[in-house]
Amino acid sequence: MKEFCQNEHCENPGANVVPVSVERASDQRRTLCRPCEEAYTWGVQHGTLVAQVRPALPRLTRFLKKDGFVILSHNDHDPSAAGPFEAWAYRGPLDLRVATPVTFGVGNGVQDALDSLEAQLEATCRHVDLREETHDLDGRAVS
Ligand SMILES: [Zn+2]
Repeated sequence: MKEFCQNEHCENPGANVVPVSVERASDQRRTLCRPCEEAYTWGVQHGTLVAQVRPALPRLTRFLKKDGFVILSHNDHDPSAAGPFEAWAYRGPLDLRVATPVTFGVGNGVQDALDSLEAQLEATCRHVDLREETHDLDGRAVS
C-alpha cells in the first residue's frame, strides 16, 4: 500500500488497496483513501447496475447475423424531431446498390436509435421473413 491516496485529485493518506479496471476488469491495484474508496465502490456499483439494466438487442443481433447490415447516421434535418441519430437496417449484402432498406429507428443518442431500431425490427420481423430473396453478383434478384 502506498502512503497517499492514488487518486490524482486527492492528497489524503492511503487507507486501502483496491482492484481497479483500467484496460481490463480488475487489471490494476491502487491505494485509495476512505472517501475515494467509497466513491469508487459506488461508481462500480452504478456501472454494474447500468450494464445489467441495459437490454440486449436480440432482434438486431439476429438481423446482423442472418439478414443484412445497419447504417448509423446523424441527421440534423430529421423532420420527426425524434432524432438526430438514425439507425437504418438494410437487408442484403453490404452493397447499397443491391441492399434494400427494411426499417429504421431514430433517437437523441446512438443507443436510443439502436433501441428504437430493435423495436422496429420486432414489429417488422415476420414481414421480413416472408420476403426471402437472393441476388446474383450483378444485383439482379434470383428466385
Ligand atoms: Zn482519496
